[in-house]
Amino acid sequence: MARDADVIVVGAGVAGLVAARRLQAVGLAPLVLEARERVGGRLLRHALGDAVVIDLGGQWLGPTQTRAYALVEELGLALFPTYTEGESLALLGGRLQRYSGPVPRLGLLPLFDFGNAVATLDRMAKTVPLESPWCAPNAAAWDSETLASWAQRALRTRLGRWGIRLFSEAVFAAEPSEFSLLHALFYIHSGGGFESLTNTRGGAQQDRFVAGAQSLALQLAAQLGERVKLGEPVVRIEQSSEGVRVIGRSGAVYAARAVIVAIPPTLAGRIEYDPPLPAVRDQLTQRLPHGAVIKCFAVYDRPFWREQGLSGFAVGDCEPVHLVFDNSPPDASCGILLGFIEGASARQMSTVDAQTRRAAVLECFAQLFGTRARQPDVYIDHDWSAEVWSRGCYGAHFPPGVWTQFGRALREPIGRIFWAGTETATRWMGYIDGAIESGERAAEEVLSRL
Ligand SMILES: Cc1cc2nc3c(=O)[nH]c(=O)nc-3n(C[C@H](O)[C@H](O)[C@H](O)COP(=O)(O)OP(=O)(O)OC[C@H]3O[C@@H](n4cnc5c(N)ncnc54)[C@H](O)[C@@H]3O)c2cc1C
Repeated sequence: MARDADVIVVGAGVAGLVAARRLQAVGLAPLVLEARERVGGRLLRHALGDAVVIDLGGQWLGPTQTRAYALVEELGLALFPTYTEGESLALLGGRLQRYSGPVPRLGLLPLFDFGNAVATLDRMAKTVPLESPWCAPNAAAWDSETLASWAQRALRTRLGRWGIRLFSEAVFAAEPSEFSLLHALFYIHSGGGFESLTNTRGGAQQDRFVAGAQSLALQLAAQLGERVKLGEPVVRIEQSSEGVRVIGRSGAVYAARAVIVAIPPTLAGRIEYDPPLPAVRDQLTQRLPHGAVIKCFAVYDRPFWREQGLSGFAVGDCEPVHLVFDNSPPDASCGILLGFIEGASARQMSTVDAQTRRAAVLECFAQLFGTRARQPDVYIDHDWSAEVWSRGCYGAHFPPGVWTQFGRALREPIGRIFWAGTETATRWMGYIDGAIESGERAAEEVLSRL
């Protein structure tokens, strides 16, 4: 049959673009079909005036994300460290506390309780094989309960459990009752340990992109040129012994030898397949929900909190913002506080009008940083659950029973259909680095098949 490309790639996020670039590098002709009118998927930059760029989506890199750093270097992109000078804040039960180091002063018992839980999680996580979490020695037991039910048993203090909840929201954008203990352990192992996931300096929040993380995707797409087609959601994939036919919402049909589906599993499950996918693969995609996150930015003339010896980092139980970072530009030409609304709070705040949300976020900032924080020059927030081509973030989490019963179908190619996307990564699943790993792996699978 006449072909439009050797390989169609569905999705111009980092995973799809990396896969396409690899195929192009060995002389094949890929064609990337992207639903949105832009590339980058969960990476989205936003310009504040001429000089300042913020990331409405993914923004940080950290140690051991070697694929991401290598790509950044190759593309000549500039990074800078997240601001961490000064003390952090904790607002718990209406009590404001300044603290240094990684954890607020919770009291001896809660601190011991939490530290013990973290050490136990790290120890258990190391026994979970990254290629096949369902083969962990305790997989069946760990996949039959949630992180919340484990925390209820393993921790004895309310504040210790609150620490686990904060970890769950910050890392999964979901409540600990929403995913299995096995998934939590896999994810901890995948991201190099609890502290590697949660730390700023020395952890996953260490470095930021000067020009915004989306610049990674924009540069990859520039290398692919006309091989990226925007505004073309894929609605149907047909395969036969001859090849694949990929059908866009426009009605256009694209023929190729193979297809890489580089989109989150829950969105892959909304595509129609002919012949239909095996039951286990379809049922997997029915079971991988996304977390919920709203990123909120308040922009001030300067980072005034730094003058008070504060780093801008804050945690707490103020509704709806439980986590805050200093997100100012490298030259501090203005001050930016970034608040995260995650999990249950994000779902609640998705339903209120923009003014109510803004007021609730700024009230949290004011309780932490004083009344000055109530009046930013600019306020912006972005609700990722409302994005039709993401349907939540940061990524998918695995509820109980999914890894052990359906995990094998996550990466397994089906005929001429191959799977990429950060959700299929073994290292740094859910992160930019994982997306790169998945794109490279899927491209190699296609090359060995073709
Ligand atoms: C708020 C937020 C904060 C984050 N913070 C970080 C961070 O600090 N560090 C980090 O490493 N990661 C972070 N992440 C996660 C990171 O952004 C993702 O892991 C990564 O970008 C995923 O890339 P991907 O290519 O796998 O998927 P995506 O980026 O989701 O790309 C998939 C693409 O497919 C398109 N698509 C979907 N359906 C179809 C269809 N039917 N047809 C055609 N195209 C389709 C989508 O439009 C999208 O462009 C964050 C994410 C969010 C949202």
